[in-house]
Amino acid sequence: MTATSRVRRWPRSVAALSSMAALISTAAAPVAAQSLPRVHVIATGGTIASSAQGLIGVDQLLAGVPELATAATVTFEQVLRVGSSRVVPKDWLTLARHIDEAFGRDPQLAGIVVTHGTDTMEETAFFLDLVAADDRPVVVTGAMRSSDAVGADGPANLLSAVRVAAHGEARRRGVLLVMNDEVHEARFAIKAHTLRVQAFSSPEAGPTGIVESEGVRFRTAPPSRPDPFPLSGVEALPEVGIDYSFAGAAGEGVRIARESGMSGVVVAAFGSGRVSEGQADEIRTALSRGLVVVMSSRVGQGLVRDEYNGGLAAEGRNVISAGILNPQKARVLLMLALTRTRVLTELSRIFEAYS
Ligand code: ASP
Repeated sequence: MTATSRVRRWPRSVAALSSMAALISTAAAPVAAQSLPRVHVIATGGTIASSAQGLIGVDQLLAGVPELATAATVTFEQVLRVGSSRVVPKDWLTLARHIDEAFGRDPQLAGIVVTHGTDTMEETAFFLDLVAADDRPVVVTGAMRSSDAVGADGPANLLSAVRVAAHGEARRRGVLLVMNDEVHEARFAIKAHTLRVQAFSSPEAGPTGIVESEGVRFRTAPPSRPDPFPLSGVEALPEVGIDYSFAGAAGEGVRIARESGMSGVVVAAFGSGRVSEGQADEIRTALSRGLVVVMSSRVGQGLVRDEYNGGLAAEGRNVISAGILNPQKARVLLMLALTRTRVLTELSRIFEAYS
């Protein structure tokens, strides 16, 4: 069944949902379902759902973790069924809509868990964070090992994510990413290892909380958060490319972004914001043709400094700093910012507030 047909058949998901609730409470009966917080799981695929038979459905995924019944009354829907390298910006809009609908349907819902592949998890989580209008938590989780692997981490991650989503103190923290017993704010979390179960970290902030068998502990107070980006009327996101720096780079990414009519380009610069001569030339041309250029860094940690910005700031050229956002996250912010304005000073202000 395709993702779209699955979404359209929402009433069928509801039917499946009651059988799932039954399934969970039979497996672990002691806690009365009424006394438990309600958590809605939105599944999209990824390694957490992968098995030798292919991608399993959310019903099977949840059935594999009977302990969930001690943490929450879980409802669910399957919105996508893909590896996250196949997730595209339109899917972010779809997920945001499903999250809105789930919160709107159930005022008593404690929180939402989104299961997702880890490859583009940081982008989806950051997008959902930037548009999160409800105080209630949205928790993104996944796995580094497939569901049938020895030492699969998915079941523990899913249980932790549900416990965090059900936790009263998870409110007003925007979107959280839960992996390997750690809770990260979507804004800071990055995938920092290709294979280990400890794949995510927040280099600029550290985890905001931890999940232990005794409970969830938050180490920091809820952050002050800028207003969410409104999505009403947004059918598609503006196209933004990424240009990667390397010794001798000619700025092909910037040129392609310009020639293909994209709205902007993020540069994964050297260090704290330097670029090659070829890139600088391409950036000058792109700026003169009205492309928005955001300077991030290929390093993956740390701030891009305004005074560098490819050496172009000194020429008075308006290049926007990505702050601490890595290139893929800066791209997400630029795409959303461009739905609001194309004025460079306003875009700079948005980056100051959100990065
Ligand atoms: N290929 C997987 C994905 O969907 C990797 C993972 O989930 O860890 O991103």
